[in-house]
Amino acid sequence: MKVQEHTSLKDHTTFRLGGEARYFIECIDEQEVKEAIMFAKEKDLPLFVLGGGSNTIFTDDGFPGVVLHIAICGVQVIQGIHDEAIVLVQAGEEWDGFIEQAMEEGFYGLENLSLIPGTVGGAPVQNIGAYGVEVSQFIEQVTVFDTKENSKKVFSNADCRFGYRTSVFKEEKERYIILSVMFRLQKVFSPNLSYKDIAKELDGKDVTPELLRETIIAIRTRKLPDWRKLGTAGSFFKNPELTKEEVGVLLAKYPEVPMYPHEDRFKVSAGYLIEHIAHMKGEKRGGVGVYDKHALVLVNYGEGTYDELEVLIKEIWYKVKKETGISLEPEVNIV
Ligand SMILES: Cc1cc2nc3c(=O)[nH]c(=O)nc-3n(C[C@H](O)[C@H](O)[C@H](O)COP(=O)(O)OP(=O)(O)OC[C@H]3O[C@@H](n4cnc5c(N)ncnc54)[C@H](O)[C@@H]3O)c2cc1C
Repeated sequence: MKVQEHTSLKDHTTFRLGGEARYFIECIDEQEVKEAIMFAKEKDLPLFVLGGGSNTIFTDDGFPGVVLHIAICGVQVIQGIHDEAIVLVQAGEEWDGFIEQAMEEGFYGLENLSLIPGTVGGAPVQNIGAYGVEVSQFIEQVTVFDTKENSKKVFSNADCRFGYRTSVFKEEKERYIILSVMFRLQKVFSPNLSYKDIAKELDGKDVTPELLRETIIAIRTRKLPDWRKLGTAGSFFKNPELTKEEVGVLLAKYPEVPMYPHEDRFKVSAGYLIEHIAHMKGEKRGGVGVYDKHALVLVNYGEGTYDELEVLIKEIWYKVKKETGISLEPEVNIV
């Protein structure tokens, strides 16, 4: 187990903000995870589990405890019968690299989730989703270390309590450390073209898995900043979910707001609210701002601070709230 002290957290998140971690421990196997938990317990320090840092922002104060960085790697095909494949992937594997590898093996389903940064262990936490697909549709089980009961556990898909950008791992923060994820993938390619932008781009084409992945990558590259060049954590806020009555009130004032039915509610485009109602697209506050190509994405131009980001978040939140009564909720984890 490699223990570092006073480690800059900027270098471990894609938003590139934040002070230092008192301790930063990289764990390459389960044993090291247990040792890191013991280390934090002995020192009576809080623990934070970090994957690729693409959905996490640390404040300028940093983290006073132990940041446990999951770097457990490995991909194993457990079963490949009939038209399905069961694949066990360790939590530290890079998410997009895993999709590529799965496709090379002829295992499909995850193409719409291409190019999402982060690790395999981070994916179930907020049940990542894009272009009509959520990762929960392909998860068979998740193996965790339960820090409360000090034991290893296996969660079935139902146990994970997946929802829109949430799961039991997000609800019970810091309790479960995901060690590996078992996926059930398809050997017969059946593209999900439910998202209208994708259907439009691929209209009339012979859709192969490679073409679908390339299309997703091209759309994402057009719309989103490259986090290697510009600090970002992707979509900053969740799309609010409103009741039929709330939607009625909103549409009476803003008839153009895009929305679509989701279970017994309606999901409203947070990006639209920020761009057309709060008029914040492209706005800068110090070193941070709202991305000029996509209003749901906040960016760090290089020297931004958490204090500046907080000012920006509050301004967006108040403007949207004042005009619509809607309270935006961050999708990103602020630690
Ligand atoms: C440019 C960009 C585009 C993005 N696009 C999308 C998108 O289309 N859809 C989408 O859903 N998300 C998107 N995201 C958000 C992010 O990439 C995903 O949420 C990703 O799955 C986070 O993984 P991570 O390993 O980086 O998690 P981290 O940021 O390291 O952690 C996120 C949360 O998960 C917890 N966590 C991480 N690993 C573990 C583990 N092994 N065990 C227990 N808890 C853990 C952390 O404690 C934290 O609470 C985007 C981000 C960026 C920067």
